Amino acid sequence: MTGASLVVTDLHVEFSGFVAVGGVSFDAHPGEVRFLIGPNGAGKTTCIDAITGLTRGTGSARLGETELLGKQVHKIVRLGVGRTFQTASVFDELTVLQNLDIAAGLHRSSVSLLRARRGVDPSIEQALEETGLAGELATPAGILSHGQKQWLEIAMLLVQDAKVLLLDEPVAGMSHDERTATGDLLQRIAVKRIVLVVEHDMDFMRRFATRVTVLHQGKVLSQGTVAEVQADPKVQEVYLGT
Ligand code: ADP
Repeated sequence: MTGASLVVTDLHVEFSGFVAVGGVSFDAHPGEVRFLIGPNGAGKTTCIDAITGLTRGTGSARLGETELLGKQVHKIVRLGVGRTFQTASVFDELTVLQNLDIAAGLHRSSVSLLRARRGVDPSIEQALEETGLAGELATPAGILSHGQKQWLEIAMLLVQDAKVLLLDEPVAGMSHDERTATGDLLQRIAVKRIVLVVEHDMDFMRRFATRVTVLHQGKVLSQGTVAEVQADPKVQEVYLGT
């Protein structure tokens, strides 16, 4: 295992007195495709929002030695924590390359970008290769398939050198083949990074998760390997129904 781990300890998030996340702890290491699952309203997205600074949380979320809670969103991004949203947030009227240029520009100084102008930036080339979008450089993002848009979002995180990728329901609305391609992609990028997937697609979770944390009503119901959480009677009762 190389690189820092993400360690979330006793995370609490309240909205006007309503406890959305009530003391959640889990960790994720580079090399893992880590899943956070649970029924609607369990607190999954709120956990990611707190880790990325969009929502105020208490407790701790450390990347290596660095505490993320309490930091501003852009500082957390600079630390290498990137996220996607359920609806892909790409610029539809711009090409794949232009979208990646913008993502790279947010990350780099203008000087290094100018140097890179001579050709396609090597980090962009690599992200295109990794996400299978190399043939779509000049395609306007708006006409990409739903799956390709999600991959472009992931590529945008890769060019920003994200060490942690927090992905909110990355396969929602995807075809079976796109799900498989996405799972393969996540396994590839997780080799050197932390990938944390919020998902309620159980089949996708079973196929690609290393470890799973099951949330229910803002608390951890169960965690472990896919086999362990599936065998947990508490999980079967409230969620899996199998
Ligand atoms: P999940 O991602 O597991 O479906 P969420 O994290 O989105 O669940 O939501 C957890 C709970 O917190 C839900 O009951 C939701 O209604 C509530 N919640 C989420 N965001 C807010 C907010 N901004 N204000 C008030 N309540 C919220």
